[in-house]
Amino acid sequence: MPTSQDTQQVAVITGASSGIGASTARALAAAGYRVALIARRADRIQALVEELDNGSIAITADVTDREALVAAAERVRSELGRVDVLLNNAGVMLLGPFDAERKDDYKQMLDVNLLGAITTTEVFLPLLRDGGGDLVNLSSVAGRTARPGNSVYAATKWGMNGWSEALRQELQPDVRVIVVEPGAVATELTDHITHAETKRGAEKMYEQMAITPEDIAEIIAFAVTRPKSVSLNEILVRPTVQP
Ligand code: NDP
Repeated sequence: MPTSQDTQQVAVITGASSGIGASTARALAAAGYRVALIARRADRIQALVEELDNGSIAITADVTDREALVAAAERVRSELGRVDVLLNNAGVMLLGPFDAERKDDYKQMLDVNLLGAITTTEVFLPLLRDGGGDLVNLSSVAGRTARPGNSVYAATKWGMNGWSEALRQELQPDVRVIVVEPGAVATELTDHITHAETKRGAEKMYEQMAITPEDIAEIIAFAVTRPKSVSLNEILVRPTVQP
């Protein structure tokens, strides 16, 4: 006899310790999902599990570490039993002029934003496919536009869009693939920019126009709760005042 826990839907969210990931965990919990929260900052995701208080779990893992992701999938399988939504959200935006000073930033962005999402999906796909689920990939306006100072960040997000579109065709009808492309959203994303002048410029722009992570979380929750016959393939969402 299935219990209510067996039938309750489950979402896995990478980068769930702050910003869009944390807000989406709250939105999906409100929609009835238990959530596996994945991030490196254990204290943040543990506090969120306590706040949600609905059987969600915190898994400390780095998305660049495949073994940690395999262990995470095993925990999700044994403790939550299923995966209905996988949100590839972990990301860093280390903007700055293209030169050798930032080669470590480039590697980190490729490893986390693109390879991290690909590895997480490859590891969780059997669970996601089992019963049909939603793969939600957090891209960006920078996945459709390009400008000076964002070259490698844009490369990761353009890469994510191409990979997602191929997967959309390959995995349908078992798995819906949904790409979300936000403009400026007020989170910790700009905190990590290493190029001082670029960081100041980005912070100024965000102060002037950014929307909230809750705005994006509501859209993700809307997309995954559509009837299974309906797939919101690509969602571009900017602050109204963003050029
Ligand atoms: P935050 O900085 O608030 O969140 C980023 C999250 O990624 C954190 O939870 C962080 O957790 C996690 N993360 C970073 N590196 C790793 C890693 N190696 N392993 C696991 N988790 C990691 O920013 P946002 O909420 O804004 O960013 C979420 C996504 O949204 C990103 O992919 C970003 O590119 C995208 N985006 C954001 C926009 C914005 O304007 N804010 C616009 C367009 C897209 P921890 O440090 O605890 O590991």
